[in-house]
Amino acid sequence: MGNLLSVANLSGGGDALTQDLGELGLPALGAAGQAKVRVEVAVIECAEEFPCDPCESSCVHGAIIVGRPITNLPHLKEDLCIGCGECIVECPGLAIFMMDLIYSENEATVSIPYEFLPLPRVGEKVEAVDRSGTVITTGRVIDVKNLPSQDRTAVVTIAVPKEFGWDVRGLQLKGEKDL
Ligand code: SF4
Ligand code: SF4
Repeated sequence: MGNLLSVANLSGGGDALTQDLGELGLPALGAAGQAKVRVEVAVIECAEEFPCDPCESSCVHGAIIVGRPITNLPHLKEDLCIGCGECIVECPGLAIFMMDLIYSENEATVSIPYEFLPLPRVGEKVEAVDRSGTVITTGRVIDVKNLPSQDRTAVVTIAVPKEFGWDVRGLQLKGEKDL
């Protein structure tokens, strides 16, 4: 299955959003949408048709459907996704991410499940890697969530140059701090 993109969890406002969405190939927003500036979206990159469905039950908003048979690939109901990110840590395959492609004028954010130690710190610069593990740019850590309920799967959100938002799917520590 290819990338899934939903436009959800919008808040704020400005013409820049409409322009950015057009550049990203996203549908133009209506009057309500034009009053919003942030777009946080779930991205499910689950490609193996094996028996698995915790993503479905993790989403209390009903935005993820696996159904039956359980080997179905998950389907994201874009209109129901509010961009809460709760599904990220429930996926044993670490196949769910969050993206905000218009985080700022020049940056997108990617929220990544992360199971290594030490955890990066907010403000730290990290190496952002693509699906093959190749370093493609530098990321700046803007959030680290590691609650006991997450069972040692942290969610690290990094800001990267906007053009890399669709490609960054992991990170490596580089030891540089930007505090
Ligand atoms: S858990 Fe949250 S982020 Fe994940 S699909 Fe459901 S609403 Fe979207
Ligand atoms: S929980 Fe993860 S690995 Fe399992 S079906 Fe959902 S997206 Fe795929």
